[in-house]
Amino acid sequence: MANLSVTNPSDLGVLVVGAGLSGLTLARRLMADSVKVTVFEKSRGVGGRLATRRGSGCLWDHGITSLDPAEIPPENYLDWKNLGVLSPRKDNPKLSWICCEGMTQLPKALEKGLDCLRHTKIDLIRIGPGGKVWMIRDESGGWHYGHTLVLAIPAPQALVLLDGSFPHQMVSLKESLLRIQYRPTLTLLAKINRRKYAQLNLKPEGAIETIVENGEKGLKDSEGALTIHMNEKFSRKHFESNEAEILAEVTTLFKKKYKIEFTSVELKKWRYSQVVQALEESYATAKLTSPLYVIGDGFCGGGIKGALLSANALADKILHPEQTLKFGREYGKGKKHNHCSK
Ligand SMILES: Cc1cc2nc3c(=O)[nH]c(=O)nc-3n(C[C@H](O)[C@H](O)[C@H](O)COP(=O)(O)OP(=O)(O)OC[C@H]3O[C@@H](n4cnc5c(N)ncnc54)[C@H](O)[C@@H]3O)c2cc1C
Repeated sequence: MANLSVTNPSDLGVLVVGAGLSGLTLARRLMADSVKVTVFEKSRGVGGRLATRRGSGCLWDHGITSLDPAEIPPENYLDWKNLGVLSPRKDNPKLSWICCEGMTQLPKALEKGLDCLRHTKIDLIRIGPGGKVWMIRDESGGWHYGHTLVLAIPAPQALVLLDGSFPHQMVSLKESLLRIQYRPTLTLLAKINRRKYAQLNLKPEGAIETIVENGEKGLKDSEGALTIHMNEKFSRKHFESNEAEILAEVTTLFKKKYKIEFTSVELKKWRYSQVVQALEESYATAKLTSPLYVIGDGFCGGGIKGALLSANALADKILHPEQTLKFGREYGKGKKHNHCSK
């Protein structure tokens, strides 16, 4: 157990677990208001489901492939505009935004100036003596302290963390998180020879949900780099299958449907890609002596819009508690839920 030498909780800051869009958005808002905040990210890079793979000089966006401006709340839009990383999608300029160096350009820009610890997976949570301090442990055994804890991670992962840390407590919060449902997505990152296949007509059909040619979309030097997302049915059916079998099946399917052969192909499995059942609340919180919140795309109706609205609402609540008491939901108090603040 940690040696807790910290005694004054007000010297501590906010701990945010997860550097996806929701965690970074919240942390950025808090930092702008001079609130001490630290973000913990288990992966090498930030962005979560805004993910870009680089290989053989090409870029593949393999999470969400573009952003719909209609889904971005105005306050985030204004912030992002100043970052200068968004461009209209070349093959759909009116309806979608991308980043020319891959979607991770956006979270990387949002991370600037933040205290963000990458490669730091949080595996245990404790409440410190006196109930006023959160203590979180990373996988290498280091402890971190804060007065407020925010889990900005998919609900099933938040549940694993909460169950492992507090097996018999926070029952009501856990029940609510259980209501948030995700679908999986199997994604192929393929390369094709554009000199051989100059004219493409890659209309998705059947098990293939979307096909994006990353070069045509506007990513630098990425002609022939295809991102192929499989539909929910196929992804659920094959999620646990052997990787080589999935690749062989989709490669054959692609050759048959589009008469195209890949020069290379790899697989990415998203266990929690998109929310199929979200909560309408802005965030979830347990009634404890130190605040604990769960935010992300499981709230405010789901998707990118939900992730951003959820982060914005919690930032408002932390920065202006007197004005936002009515938002969110306090589990364990038997209260009726309130709606998103935006
Ligand atoms: C293939 C695909 C297609 C999509 N298409 C769409 C779409 O068309 N429209 C739409 O609205 N949305 C879409 N989405 C969903 C959208 O990308 C997400 O809703 C959004 O990015 C969620 O952001 P988030 O911050 O809530 O979560 P995430 O991006 O999942 O961020 C959570 C972060 O927490 C980290 N983490 C998890 N556990 C821990 C831990 N214990 N310790 C430290 N760090 C941890 C993760 O590594 C991750 O970086 C798509 C997603 C995928 C994958």
